[in-house]
Amino acid sequence: MSDTTRNLPPVHPPTRKGICPSCGRRSRFRFEGEQRWPRHIAEKAGLPMIILLWSCGYCHSTVSDNEIV
Ligand SMILES: [Zn+2]
Repeated sequence: MSDTTRNLPPVHPPTRKGICPSCGRRSRFRFEGEQRWPRHIAEKAGLPMIILLWSCGYCHSTVSDNEIV
């Protein structure tokens, strides 16, 4: 209901579950950071401007949000 929330970056949970594209296991991922692209590069590559990065709980690979099933 508050107007102040509109200016904050998108929120994300500190962990998420899914299947790791690297080791193929159902894993819990720890939030690693954000990868930000300038708009013209993102549009050219067909990618979102902000990609969330996660670390696999099993193999510790860093994977991007759209790779986790
Ligand atoms: Zn993994």
